Amino acid sequence: MANRAGIALGSNLGNRLRHLQHARDMLRNLVPEETTYAQAPIYQSEPVDCPVDSPDFFNTVLEIDFIGTAYELLEHTQGIEFHFGRGIVHQLNAPRIIDLDILYFGDEVIKDTILNIPHLELTSRRFVLQPLADIRPQLILPGDTATISEHLYHLDSNEPPLSMVQSKW
Ligand code: AMP
Repeated sequence: MANRAGIALGSNLGNRLRHLQHARDMLRNLVPEETTYAQAPIYQSEPVDCPVDSPDFFNTVLEIDFIGTAYELLEHTQGIEFHFGRGIVHQLNAPRIIDLDILYFGDEVIKDTILNIPHLELTSRRFVLQPLADIRPQLILPGDTATISEHLYHLDSNEPPLSMVQSKW
């Protein structure tokens, strides 16, 4: 059975747009071409909790119809991160070519040592909520009562505003 999976993509090293496009293509290749697919605009955001002088991030969100389990999707997203040269040991929040986080996976709730779904920081980070609200404003996460656009509206964070880099990419 297919599950709608939201995936956050971020890059703050090198040609960030090209890296996001490349990762997007690899994620799209995980699913048949005719399945439902949504892609948010790309936003630029200042790094949060990152080493000093870290470059700005390009962030976006995709939704794919994934056939398989959330753990299998994590294997794929981690395989893509490794493809882009991310090792197992890395400095906390160091600049990265590509970072992929699974935001939600259908109606599943998972809390174990490998996966937290829905993603723990989904509703507290503007650089996730904003692009997700562009493609799924009415989405209500399992166990929640507010929509994504409501979370974004009520977001109380000191993150500086995002700037849109590109809507089509
Ligand atoms: P990060 O450094 O933020 O990319 O975190 C990677 C680690 O977070 C991996 O060891 C994953 O097992 C774990 N993790 C927990 N929940 C998630 C999730 N929803 N999406 C991606 N990684 C997750």
